[in-house]
Parts: sequence; structure tokens; C-alpha cells
Amino acid sequence: MSDIEEHRKKIEEVTLEMIKLLKTRTDIAKQIGDTKASLGMTVTDEEREDALRKQVTELSKEINLDQSTALKFLNLLLNESVKVQSDNKQTHLSVFLKAKALEEEGKKIIHLEVGEPDFKPPKEVKTALEEVYDKGYGKYGSPKGITELREVLAGFDSPITNQYTKENIMICPGARFAVYLAITTLLNPGDEIIVIEPSWPAYKDCALNAGIKVRTIKTTLETRWEPSIDQIKNAINENTKMIVLNYPNNPTGKVLPEKLLVNIFQTAKEHDLYVLSDEIYFRLDRLNEIRVPSQYCKPMISNHEKSIIINSFSKSHAMTGFRIGWVIAEPSIIEKMSKLQALSLTNVSEPIQYVALRALEANTTKNEQVVRTRLDVLIQSAKDIGLEFIEPDGAMYLFAKTKHKNFDATKFSEKLLEHGVAIAPGEGFGDYKEFFRITAIDETRLKEGMIILDTILKESYE
Ligand code: PMP
Repeated sequence: MSDIEEHRKKIEEVTLEMIKLLKTRTDIAKQIGDTKASLGMTVTDEEREDALRKQVTELSKEINLDQSTALKFLNLLLNESVKVQSDNKQTHLSVFLKAKALEEEGKKIIHLEVGEPDFKPPKEVKTALEEVYDKGYGKYGSPKGITELREVLAGFDSPITNQYTKENIMICPGARFAVYLAITTLLNPGDEIIVIEPSWPAYKDCALNAGIKVRTIKTTLETRWEPSIDQIKNAINENTKMIVLNYPNNPTGKVLPEKLLVNIFQTAKEHDLYVLSDEIYFRLDRLNEIRVPSQYCKPMISNHEKSIIINSFSKSHAMTGFRIGWVIAEPSIIEKMSKLQALSLTNVSEPIQYVALRALEANTTKNEQVVRTRLDVLIQSAKDIGLEFIEPDGAMYLFAKTKHKNFDATKFSEKLLEHGVAIAPGEGFGDYKEFFRITAIDETRLKEGMIILDTILKESYE
């Protein structure tokens, strides 16, 4: 056998060994996952993982292996293990699907689990839908979006007037896809992303899907859902590449104080991290102000080229089904993201982009006021039945727990669904098994739902 053949054979043997090892590891991880789930334990144990990281760092020094590479490899293994263990989690989506199935059987359900405005899009949308056929949109288009819409969005609620041009804007089929594009194109497998929990699950799921390790910062009701800057700093290492912000927050409705946000941006700048700010609830603020990070941190953002602001027509214009949103970032970032958009979609539907352009002419303040009033009703009703929560600053949800010790919100939500009310269990938003999220829907249905919730709560726990 020639040297080359021998070498090739050796590589094949080592590869096969590695695959066998990985397979064993995945099987074990699955078993660990099942055991943890049956014991009600969380999938990720940050303390254990920190200890592992230290061990790997020491070992890599000992054997003279690049530390960052070693930690990336560890991240891939940890991720694999999270993936196989995350199958059985109940999220707002899984409850919604169960509720839908019950409706198909003829059962009436009050949907307090869904995250979408229940009013119609503005009337400008109807007119635009009628017009668009004759307008000539409807062929293949640019992956970044139509110029007219990008230009208008560049000036729309922009943190600094005239700061942006159309080169900073890309149209996406919804904020969700924008999140997916940002995480997938800007980060590499083994990199780390910081997510502050409780959190909308897609940031974590997109990262997991792309082999990126999620470092969760757990916040609590007791600390008013605010992360400390030390928590964030302690989670940063040389593989950390991005921090995600979502304020007003889904599920808590929290808005972070300006000083803390400025601190977070400063930290991100110091460590050269991307800041992904999902500002989909920017108009839904209980003080009727705009308190999103891009507004609070205007000078910081203009100074930090690695900021990515994501927004959407879904909530502000009640256009969830139209699937349209946008990204604001440096042109070099837009360029990277648009390549994957081109690859996967060609372009966002041009007729829908035209409709969105016209939707921007609408005055949405009435709907925003409706959501504020509904949130007030929800807050009052939750107080009346003794739920424990921090009053939301914005968005359209309330994230609460009960006074009962060891309350299991997942089991409770299953029971409640049998009585015709769907709520979103807290475990879908992180390690919050005793919490649940309620959406502020129309007043009559909301009150009806809250009465049933109270009755079932009393029946089950008192
Ligand atoms: N971000 C957050 C925080 C959300 O709550 C949601 C939807 N619930 C989205 C993004 C998705 O928005 P879109 O419909 O634009 O994809």
C-alpha cells in the first residue's frame, strides 16, 4: 500500500471512530434529556456548562490546542445535546395547534395564547390589494426589496433623521425570517449568542439550527425582568458574537431603562458584538412613547456598525399573514443577509411589498390605543384574581404566575384548554415552568377567558 493510500485509510478509520463516538453521545444525550424532562429539570445547566468550559480551556492549554477552536467544538457538542433534549417542550405554538384541532372538532376556544392582533389591517391595505394587479408588480425582483419601500422605510421612525438610506434597508418576509437570516449569515457554527430570557423562542431555535451556542441570561420577576450588566459581561468570551434584545419584550412587555441599554451597547462595542434588536412592538408602548433600544441608544447605534434592527408590519399594521418586515443595518450586513434571502426566496413578493408601502400611509394610532386599553383590562383582571406579575410597559402580553408553590403552568394550560381557554405556558420562553403568558385580546372574550381561568385555578389548587 502506498503512503498516500495508507494515510487515506487512517483518515477513514478516524472519521468512522468519530462518527461512532458522536452517535453514542447523541443517544446518551437523548436519554439524559428524557430523564431530565421526567424530573422536570431544564435542558441547559449554565453552571455545569461553565465548569465544562473551564476544563476544556485548561485541557487545550495543556495539549497546546487553540482555545477558541476547542471551545467551539465543545459548543457544537453541547448544542447537539440541547437539540435532542428539546423535543417535548410546550410552546404557545404547540398550544395553538392543539386549540385549532379542538376547534375543528367543533369546540369553542378563547385564544389567549396567540401573538397576533385580532383586528383587520388598515383600509389602505384593501385599496392597495385592489390596485396592485394593474400596477405591474409581480415579476422576479431584487432580493433586498423594491426601491420605493426601502426608501420610505429608511426615513420611517428612523432613530436619527437622515441617518439611513435605502442601502441600509432590506425587506424580509416577516421579522422571523429576518432573525433567521441575521443569525445564520452573521455567525458561524460554534460561535455564541447571548439571549436574555424570558424570550420569544425563535432566537434560540434559529441559533440551535445553525450550530450556534446560546448563552441564556435568566431574568426574574423579582428583578423586574432586568438583566444586570455583570450577568451579560460574565457570559461573554472570545466566541461570543451577538447579543439579542427584544424590547418591548415578548412575553413580559418589559422595556429596559435607558441607562441599562446604553451600558449594554457599550459592552457590545467593547467586545465587538453584533446587537440584534427586535423592535416589532415599537408602537405598542403603554406610555405611548417609542422606547425601543434604537430610539434610546441613537448615538450608540450610529456609532456601532454591528447593530441590526428588525421590524415588521405584523403587529403595528395587523398584517401577520402578509409576511412582511424589514431590517436596518450597515450595507455590508445587508449584503450578507440578502445573499441568503436571494438563495432561499429569490425575493419577497412584490405585490405584498407594494401593499406594505401603502399601509405606511395609514394612521395606526387608534389600534395602538385599543391594545393599550386591552392591556389595562388584562392587568386589572389579573390583579383581581391574584396573579403575580410586573405590569407590562408595552407589547400585548402579560407574563404571570400564581401564588401557589410548585405551580406547573404546562399542566394547568392543558387543563384550561379542556375548558375552552388557551394560554401560552412559560416553558416555551425559557426556564419559567410556573409562569404563563396571556394575550390582551378583545375585552369581552378576555374577561370571559379570565373568569374561566380563575375558576379552574381555584378548582385545581384550593
Ligand atoms: N419577534 C417577536 C418578538 C415576536 O413576538 C414575533 C411574533 N410573535 C415575531 C418577531 C415574528 O414576527 P413576524 O410575523 O413579522 O415574522
